[in-house]
Amino acid sequence: MPHLAARMSRAKPSAIMLIAEKAKQLKAAGKDIISFSIGVPNFLPGKHVYAAAREALERDSGQYGSNRGPDALLDAFLRHLEEGGLSGYGRKNVATGIGAKHMLYNLGEALLDAGDVIVFPVPYWTTYLDLAEILDARARLLPCPSEQNYKLTPTQLDAALPGAKVFLFNNPSNPTGMVYTKHEIAALADVLVGHPDVWIICDDIYNRMVFDGVGYHNFVNARPELRDRVIHVDSISKTYGMPGWRVGFIAGPESVANAMVTLNSNHITNVPEVVNAAAIAALSGPQDVTIAKNAEFAARRDQVYDALTAIPGVVCPRPQGAFYAFPNISCAFGKSHGGKVINNDVDFCSLLLEAKGVACVPGSAFGDPLALRISYTCPAEQLAPGLQRFREFFDELT
Ligand code: PMP
Repeated sequence: MPHLAARMSRAKPSAIMLIAEKAKQLKAAGKDIISFSIGVPNFLPGKHVYAAAREALERDSGQYGSNRGPDALLDAFLRHLEEGGLSGYGRKNVATGIGAKHMLYNLGEALLDAGDVIVFPVPYWTTYLDLAEILDARARLLPCPSEQNYKLTPTQLDAALPGAKVFLFNNPSNPTGMVYTKHEIAALADVLVGHPDVWIICDDIYNRMVFDGVGYHNFVNARPELRDRVIHVDSISKTYGMPGWRVGFIAGPESVANAMVTLNSNHITNVPEVVNAAAIAALSGPQDVTIAKNAEFAARRDQVYDALTAIPGVVCPRPQGAFYAFPNISCAFGKSHGGKVINNDVDFCSLLLEAKGVACVPGSAFGDPLALRISYTCPAEQLAPGLQRFREFFDELT
């Protein structure tokens, strides 16, 4: 039998999906499971979104569409960018695709040749490493442990960029929930100016989910001369509770947007028009669900943060965005639960799931094996009991 391409031995199925799957199976078997594992928003888009999709269906929008995306969607995204503080882009600077994940792969294909170096901080969103593996690029990882609040420093960045082709930056962060301040973004932007041969991909998909008035800040506004090297990635998945509809965007230099269109014309042709209609409605319609959810997530963040930091030995930098917390739980390593020794984050998460029915994702899935990720988008009534069980698990360690 012929064998698969070598890259398939390097690409792994998403570790997040594996835990979510195990939790699902246990639930199906009748176990009482609380899932803190998957980053799916716990809300649905407004009625206007469904109405727009139905209307598009009735119009029979079943023909091939534009490779870039229909003008109405591009315009809706451009307005959305402006509202988020990013102006000066036109239709020629943007392109759409099947979610932010697809846009990231498109960007990888457009910007990276085999062997090129892509730099990103650790912890990282799992897909970044797989993307590098699949595209035969070399990942240069910059460790940002809990002691530095999971944030990249300008000195680290400056040392890592020589010889790199792409810097990939995620703010607010999945998995840590960290949000860079205006000052921190400005300091990193100053470093980027000094490395003119590096493309800068900003995965900003959580930019509407920021708490405590920190605000969302970006390199282009900090140093406008970076505009011709920065590519913003955005998506309707988290902001509008529409992860399965699959629409993502980029905004950046015209040459990069055109490359996305070329790749779309080869890979996907177009995002389905019914889905585009729903995305236009989400971007242009009332934003009240998104705003209300953000307030709810901020309150949940408080609850999660307070519960985690009350556990002796657990270290959790305070998240200020998205819907994740990333506690360092290494104080549990070497201890036992129910006679079973916890050697690492994977042991911890497996035992926690077996003993307490709480599903979290091991930090090693994000490059940091000292931590685990809690996604706090579960049904409201499960949050307190889930945190309580988490606490009990720690109290029962010997
Ligand atoms: N980037 C980050 C940081 C994410 O957390 C996710 C989704 N979990 C994505 C990109 C992909 O988003 P989409 O659903 O738009 O493909």
